[in-house]
Amino acid sequence: MPLDWRSRLIHSQARAPEGFRSLTTPTYRGSTTLFTSAADVTDHWDQEHVRYSYGLYGTPTSFELAARIAALEGAHHCFITPGGQAAIALIYLTFARAGGHVLVADSVYGPSRELAERLLSRLGVETEYYDPLIGADIRHLLRPTTQLIWCESPGSVTMEVQDVGAISNAAHEAGVATALDNTYAAGVLFDAFAAGIDVAMQALTKYVGGHSDVLLGSVTTRDHRHYQALGDARQLLGMGASPDDCSLAIRGLQTLAVRLEQLEKSTLAVARWLEQQPETARLRHPAFASCPGHEIWKRDFAGSASIFSVEFVPSIPRDVIVGLLDELKLFKIGYSWGGVISLVMPHFDLRRRFPNHSPSIVRFNIGLEAVGDLIADLEAAFSAIR
Ligand SMILES: *Cc1c(COP(=O)(O)O)cnc(C)c1O
Repeated sequence: MPLDWRSRLIHSQARAPEGFRSLTTPTYRGSTTLFTSAADVTDHWDQEHVRYSYGLYGTPTSFELAARIAALEGAHHCFITPGGQAAIALIYLTFARAGGHVLVADSVYGPSRELAERLLSRLGVETEYYDPLIGADIRHLLRPTTQLIWCESPGSVTMEVQDVGAISNAAHEAGVATALDNTYAAGVLFDAFAAGIDVAMQALTKYVGGHSDVLLGSVTTRDHRHYQALGDARQLLGMGASPDDCSLAIRGLQTLAVRLEQLEKSTLAVARWLEQQPETARLRHPAFASCPGHEIWKRDFAGSASIFSVEFVPSIPRDVIVGLLDELKLFKIGYSWGGVISLVMPHFDLRRRFPNHSPSIVRFNIGLEAVGDLIADLEAAFSAIR
């Protein structure tokens, strides 16, 4: 019997012609995915290896993004998360258990610190901050209950470059896992797995997305055991990622090399100019000798990226620095970075257990505007406050 038109709205026989060979990855959306037989029904997250069971665990679009990132980073596997902070949470919740101890670099991304203090503490996990420049001496901080060591290199805002290899070695001698926030390096300027890291994450929101219009994260792992544990936790936490966002990230990946190359050049030029201003007490850019850990950056990194910080001379009042930032026209004031627009952000009340910076610190993110225009913008703003 022919179907009623109402049913035909839903169960249509219409099909597009086959053979459309686009250069781009299709955006597959879907919550429900079909089983061919009731006997096949299963609920498993590992759709790289078993049949599709539910869209939350991934679609061909997100799996392609994950596979591309895993291949770039030389990882065993990659998970896509709804954002960088979600990637951090996934790693914490995979490795930390009640009664455990986690070592966290003092220079770590602020919300990562908040997560440890305000959520993990409630679950009975103790976090301890360590000096990011500690290197192999981290072994003195290890306890029988230590479950994870977090690195971030260069650190957020204060930009300390860590000896990730030395920290990983010490961790592995004690059988402790290591995690790295590799957002600055976009997963490509620093080889996390060669340095011995077990699990790396990045906020794809930054350089991979590259245009300030997408929020995504990635978690990559070198080891099958960690892959299983991370996958189980991700399923239970319900961390899906939008296929549309994944498609934007796949597009972003294809121009990552040219963007990073130009960003590095422009950023070095702007940083050199800022270093010469009398208001600058210290420049924190990994490629400059004044940056803590600069020698390690030279040893370990294939290049530098688009962010750095300026410590202002302590005698300059904060409201004058605020006036300077407000005076800027091309540089906008806003969180996040790695896009095409230049940004500034004051970090006057940075929380650190081992403070090594002036309280008047401002982070710059350089975009893809012409360098001459950016420097002219800065010149005008500095003149206005002098
Ligand atoms: C931005 C950022 C994150 C978080 O990324 P979101 O996608 O904004 O959640 C994590 N780590 C670092 C170092 C970051 O800069």
